Amino acid sequence: MTLITPEFGKLKVIAKGIRRPTSRLGGSLEPFAELRIALARGRTFDVVTQVSVGHAFLRLRDRLESAATAWYLAELADRSLEERHAAEPLYLLLRRAYELLDAGMAPGRVARWYEMHLADELGVRPEVDRCVECDRVLEASEAFRWVPPLGGVLCERCPGPPAMHAQLSLEGLKLLKAYQRMDIEALACLRLGTDVEREVESAMRDFLRTSLEREPRSLAFLDEVRVGH
Ligand SMILES: [Zn+2]
Repeated sequence: MTLITPEFGKLKVIAKGIRRPTSRLGGSLEPFAELRIALARGRTFDVVTQVSVGHAFLRLRDRLESAATAWYLAELADRSLEERHAAEPLYLLLRRAYELLDAGMAPGRVARWYEMHLADELGVRPEVDRCVECDRVLEASEAFRWVPPLGGVLCERCPGPPAMHAQLSLEGLKLLKAYQRMDIEALACLRLGTDVEREVESAMRDFLRTSLEREPRSLAFLDEVRVGH
C-alpha cells in the first residue's frame, strides 16, 4: 500500500495480514484517514508494525461523490510525489482538501481548488493573466484559447499550435483566476452556473493530464458516480 507523508513524501509499505478479519492493523488502515504509523525496515518495503487513527474523516466517506473525489485527489498526490522526498506542502494541501470534503463542501469546488494549488506545488502554475505566447495582458473583449501544453491562455492574435486548444469563455477565465487568488471559504460562497463550472473542470483536468502526462484512473469512477446523481 502507498502512504503519503509530510517527511518522506510517498512511501510504499507492506501491512502483513491486513486482509485477515482478526488483523490488529487492518481495522485502522483505512483509506483517506490521517494515521500515526510505526514502520520496521524491510528488505524491499518497510513493514507497518503499529497504526493508530489520528483523523478518520468519516463524513467524507458517507457521500459517494466526496469519497470518489477523495480518491481522485489522493491519486493526483500519488502521481505528483516521489518516494522518500519530503513533501510537507502537498501533504498539507491534501489534508486541507479532506477537511473541506469532510465538512460538506461541494466536491467540485474542493477538487478545482486542490488542482490549482497542486499545479503551483508542481511549479506549473497556469498562466491566466497574460498570453502564454506574446506575454500581452489579456483583455476582457478578446477571444481566449486554453492551451495546456503551452501552460495556459493564448490570446486571439497568436496562432498557437493547430488543434490543441479549446475556446475559453470570459466567465471561465475569471473562474480560473478566482481559483488562483481567492481563499477556499470565499470560493465556497460563489454562485456559479453549471456551464462555467463544467468548462473550468474540463480545463483543469486537461491541464493536469498534460502536466502529469496521463489520465488519472479514478476519474472514470468519479464521473460514473456523478452521472448516477
Ligand atoms: Zn498572444
